[in-house]
Amino acid sequence: MISDCVFCKITAGQAPAKKLYEDNDVIAFHDINPQAPVHILVIPRKHIRNLLYVDEKDALILSKLIMVATMMAKEQKIAEKGYRIVINTNRCAGQSVDHLHIHVLGGRIMSWPPG
Ligand code: 5GP
Ligand code: ZN
Repeated sequence: MISDCVFCKITAGQAPAKKLYEDNDVIAFHDINPQAPVHILVIPRKHIRNLLYVDEKDALILSKLIMVATMMAKEQKIAEKGYRIVINTNRCAGQSVDHLHIHVLGGRIMSWPPG
């Protein structure tokens, strides 16, 4: 738990979030500033800064994050038409919260390449 990390606060129940799923390792909740009709964040409870800070011991957490992202896409009914998962890493890629998170986006047509 990093005391000034907003996502650590959400995992600890110290900041509000519209949670959709949680287990011992992973939490999923609605993004506060959605960029698509469906925009969910899937995060580990453990504070990992970003993909560059994942080590071998985190392999199970990483696979759980992806599986929960898939579960969210199915539950939100965006799986069949198409959805995107995004992990921004460092500032030029758009990472603004330094706690690893997967964006699950869908419900509209996505452009490619991303901006
Ligand atoms: P990043 O820009 O780091 O890839 O994504 C961070 C995401 O977290 C953004 O989409 C932003 O809207 C979302 N976000 C930031 N603070 C909060 C918060 O307090 N609650 C929720 N639900 N989402 C947040
Ligand atoms: Zn954190």
